[in-house]
Amino acid sequence: GRLVGADADGDDQAVEAALRPKDLGEFVGQERVREQLDLVLKAARQRGGTADHVLLSGAPGLGKTTLSMIIAAEMAAPIRITSGPAIQHAGDLAAILSSLAEGEVLFLDEIHRMSRPAEEMLYMAMEDFRVDVIVGKGPGATAIPLELPPFTLVGATTRAGLLPPPLRDRFGFTGHMEFYAPGELERVIHRSAGLLDVTIEAEGASEIAGRSRGTPRIANRLLRRVRDYAQVKADGVITREIAASALAVYDVDERGLDRLDRAVLSALLKLFGGGPVGLSTLAVAVGEERETVEEVAEPFLVREGLLARTPRGRIGTPAAWAHLGLTPPPQTAG
Ligand code: ATP
Repeated sequence: GRLVGADADGDDQAVEAALRPKDLGEFVGQERVREQLDLVLKAARQRGGTADHVLLSGAPGLGKTTLSMIIAAEMAAPIRITSGPAIQHAGDLAAILSSLAEGEVLFLDEIHRMSRPAEEMLYMAMEDFRVDVIVGKGPGATAIPLELPPFTLVGATTRAGLLPPPLRDRFGFTGHMEFYAPGELERVIHRSAGLLDVTIEAEGASEIAGRSRGTPRIANRLLRRVRDYAQVKADGVITREIAASALAVYDVDERGLDRLDRAVLSALLKLFGGGPVGLSTLAVAVGEERETVEEVAEPFLVREGLLARTPRGRIGTPAAWAHLGLTPPPQTAG
């Protein structure tokens, strides 16, 4: 996987489990969502009932899975984890729903990628804790109603706007996860370093935080690569210098851009004078697929204010020229 990619790769999964905060108190940042969720869960506990369905929206790696596990832990409930793409048929969903224990948390990642029939079954399950199981085919088919125990659905999606309104409306609470501030990422890094038994100086943590693209998953991954470097090349202690040298080896720059991000920016500025240039032309110039440039490199560059999408094509901003240490061509009046 890509060192600054926000999606989990194989290597991540085992370590991530070990680094996951176990309760709301350990969960760093996201003050609003945490406070809101704390109320929802406390109230449900006081009533001795099951928590309302929760929708979590936000970019990959911001902690949606972690938060769903915390919800289950705070409700002392078991959790079942699955994802929209894993549910091909309504029957798959019926099987899961009918095997839930009372009060169980069902975490449905990428809920916007569920099939239509499954989605419609979910409406009824969420609202009435009931599903209709269709038995047989054609004119002889019958719907057998099946009562479900009350459960809490935690849905995760990159953008709440991707959900059809009838589904969105059935969640009692929607939490929007934001990118993390550098100070929050420093806390994540210090916490993880403690769990990994690594010594890290404050400046080392801030060096890693600044390159983590606002994302705890990336912060933890960079920390592990810096730890390797500190162990092999030095005495194991992570200082600012060690962190900077290690991440230079991995092609992650001070702002968290990797080789591909910089190749795109560099082509845009050096070959096309800062644009506007079409996506396909830009992709050819860096020797990548159109989709790779659009989906892998651009979102972060846009977020950082380094690249803008305009109707006439991609343009590099003044910040992009500054970041690559280049001088923009003089503006022609007009
Ligand atoms: P995806 O949507 O890609 O599954 P996610 O948003 O569910 O991503 P998680 O798997 O929950 O992300 O989090 C990724 C890693 O980041 C976890 O292992 C956890 O250690 C760390 N992490 C996430 N949020 C926090 C946080 N608020 N405090 C501390 N660590 C966090």
